[in-house]
Amino acid sequence: MQVKTSFQPDVQPLSTAVPPRVTVAYGDGIGREIMEATLSILDAAGAKLEIEEARIGEEVYLEGHSSGISPEAWEVIRRNKAFLKGPITTPQGGGYKSLNVTIRKALGLYANVRPCRAYTPFVESNFPDMDLVVIRENEEDLYAGIEHQQTAEVVQCLKLVSRPGCERVIRYAFEYARAYGRRKVTCMTKDNIMKHTDGLFHQVFDEVAREYPEIEATHYIIDIGAALLAGRPEKFDVVVTLNLYGDIISDITAQVAGSVGLGGSANVGDTVAMFEAIHGSAPDIAGKDVANPSGLLHAACMMLTHIGQPAVAERIQNALLCTLEDGIHTPDLYNEAFTKHRAGTREFSQAVIERLGKLPRKLKAVQLGEQSQPIQVKVKPRPAATKTLVGVDVFLDWAEGQRDPNELGRELERIAGTALQLKMITNRGVKVYPNGFPETFCTDHWRCRFVSGDSRVNQQAKGMSFTAPVTYGEITALLQRLNEEGYDFIKIENLYQIDGQRAYSLGQGE
Ligand code: NAD
Repeated sequence: MQVKTSFQPDVQPLSTAVPPRVTVAYGDGIGREIMEATLSILDAAGAKLEIEEARIGEEVYLEGHSSGISPEAWEVIRRNKAFLKGPITTPQGGGYKSLNVTIRKALGLYANVRPCRAYTPFVESNFPDMDLVVIRENEEDLYAGIEHQQTAEVVQCLKLVSRPGCERVIRYAFEYARAYGRRKVTCMTKDNIMKHTDGLFHQVFDEVAREYPEIEATHYIIDIGAALLAGRPEKFDVVVTLNLYGDIISDITAQVAGSVGLGGSANVGDTVAMFEAIHGSAPDIAGKDVANPSGLLHAACMMLTHIGQPAVAERIQNALLCTLEDGIHTPDLYNEAFTKHRAGTREFSQAVIERLGKLPRKLKAVQLGEQSQPIQVKVKPRPAATKTLVGVDVFLDWAEGQRDPNELGRELERIAGTALQLKMITNRGVKVYPNGFPETFCTDHWRCRFVSGDSRVNQQAKGMSFTAPVTYGEITALLQRLNEEGYDFIKIENLYQIDGQRAYSLGQGE
């Protein structure tokens, strides 16, 4: 294994005889200790790598790069195929952006893969048969980071979900199941509530699942799904879900496996992939030679598989299992019954090196088989959609008098005129006009829905089989009148019918 620390640009080798170059960032806190331990094991196991270092993290943040990464480091990461990253400390205080989120989004790392397996009895867990993989959508959802305060009382966060975004990660999950001999893929969403965003994810899951008839496909609503993951994780195999749910359930699964310190993860894109431990930089134990390097080591093994060296990854993982079985444990894994020797970081990595080539006696050995190519997925092109503008939701900041929705409704009906008519007003999604309940609490944030004022077509529109088109001109004229009458409109959302289907949610009670 060679180490290259300069940043001079040159070309990735084409021949397999030349070791592939990977980027390594040591990270902060315990980062250097666990990275050195990991690289020493990779070297001893015969990994063929050329290492190029990238400087990222706390010191780069403090140098004034608000995302914790310098332009040179971007160049190195983008040039190389794979990136092994140590944990990063995000400095406290405002203005610093999450380095992980920045890297994931900027490099299109759309799938976050977290295998999670129990090592009982050597590491305590109530679920000895647990062996699952959470695959989380990594770029969209509430993590788009688009938030606004709109009124004195109300803030919003936009949840963005795209069809290609869903399709990429769902296809990845099925391809992953196929490549690793897994039999079941479970989708988790909250589409009983979020029928359009989570509904799209579920719909695409059902479509893609039909192309993999040999793999069992199921769906759970995320709340019961998360409860089952905590209570019966051995029932699951591959789980695919949206960004926020995936963030939460992957920590639940790591915790119930009893091994947060052992977990590794991959962030996979079409060209670059980033591999890291699931834990942070653990500043409380930094520099003490007690940190467990296993999480980063597992991540490094995922990287070796990704770049076509699965046999080396298999050797390392089995040596790690032997080390755990032999009771050589870092302090975080200490348990009275099975720990025979409490080892420091370096000693632990030496123990793994000594066991290279051995297979575990009790724990199930790792078998990676022939899987040696990165999983590539292609999103299917779709025909362009037919989009018809059928109305507008105008959001108002309004806190007059007793905040009586009937007063607001009467005024808006007068202002609406004839081309558009007020259909309803909701407050935090609940219909308050017409025919609202006086018990409904109202904030200063009102969503006012206007649709075509053509009574003939609206008659036909009953039952939602047909909705009358409106024009942008009618909408801008309405906004102009609202402005002239002193109403503070915060934003609008156009209402569309797409390919003949209503493409917006109804208000609760509408
Ligand atoms: P943490 O994961 O660093 O630590 C939580 C606890 O687990 C601590 O008690 C720590 O000592 C222990 N621990 C973590 N890794 C361990 C290991 N390998 N061996 C033994 N014990 C280990 O979480 P935190 O304390 O909330 O965060 C510390 C810093 O890490 C913060 O700045 C946070 O932003 C950052 N962080 C970075 C990443 C990342 O780079 N991917 C992820 C999470 C947190």
